[in-house]
Amino acid sequence: MIVDSDAHFTPKLEGEITKSIWYEQFLLRVNRFSNPDDRHKEMREKLFVDRQLLNPTARSLGLTYSLEDKIALQVMQAYNAAMCQMCDKYSYYDYNIWLALQNPEQCIDEIKIHKDKCFAAYANDIVYWGFADNMKTVWQTLEYYKMPLYLHFSGETYNPHEQIPEEFLQFANSIDKSKKWLLSIASLLLSDMLTEFPNLKIIVAERNIDWIPYLRELFLCHGFDDPLSLLKTNFWFTIEPESINFLENAQTIGYNKLLFATDWPHNDPGACNAQHDVATVNKLNISVEQKNMIFYKNYIDLQNKVN
Ligand SMILES: [Zn+2]
Repeated sequence: MIVDSDAHFTPKLEGEITKSIWYEQFLLRVNRFSNPDDRHKEMREKLFVDRQLLNPTARSLGLTYSLEDKIALQVMQAYNAAMCQMCDKYSYYDYNIWLALQNPEQCIDEIKIHKDKCFAAYANDIVYWGFADNMKTVWQTLEYYKMPLYLHFSGETYNPHEQIPEEFLQFANSIDKSKKWLLSIASLLLSDMLTEFPNLKIIVAERNIDWIPYLRELFLCHGFDDPLSLLKTNFWFTIEPESINFLENAQTIGYNKLLFATDWPHNDPGACNAQHDVATVNKLNISVEQKNMIFYKNYIDLQNKVN
């Protein structure tokens, strides 16, 4: 079995939100992704994957942390309900719920509704989540239900809402311009978030693992602890198996932390290898057991909450 841990889909939504500005944008794109039974099915076969984990096509739909509260909540509930319904119908899909983190209380309700059905809870925005104290109840609920937080940073748009504490400013300014999204991950490692919620699971999607040596070096340069043990404990990563030094980085982080993903149907740099991803993993000089961990075992373990 091969599970694609990062694919995208946007269901048709009904109800009052059809009147929102958001829905205007949504209509422009929905037809690309509206019928799971034809284009998606055909592509699954072409990609050689058996199951796909579906995420919203969030940023292009305006599903962000900055979306107006009232609209965000309506969209969250309608979107998650539609995904749940669809995944009930088609066994080859799983879904991540989208969390409108602008309202933590409602997010907790949403987590409780979907806790036995969804795979993880999706957050799209580059925010310093570790420093966002008002989110603690959300992290606590995710930890309690063993539901992973699925961080999917799309694009390089950098629009932080939380302040960086004084003691981390120098570190923050030293991060390479093209890697500013790493600050979102760094905030989780530098804050007390993982001390408070030591069993919280975090999936970093669509970013591969080649940034790990860079981040470790930067932490050490600034006198912070090596983040490797936290990365090996609390984090999982979707991979780009064709990347340089992939085997070396995989060895460092551990094959039990890697998830296979194509990012279909996107056609961005992260997804351009989608059609060859299965073959690329199969050609890697690693054991069958390690390949199976990447292709499905790690995913199933997360789904069955055995970690
Ligand atoms: Zn993606």
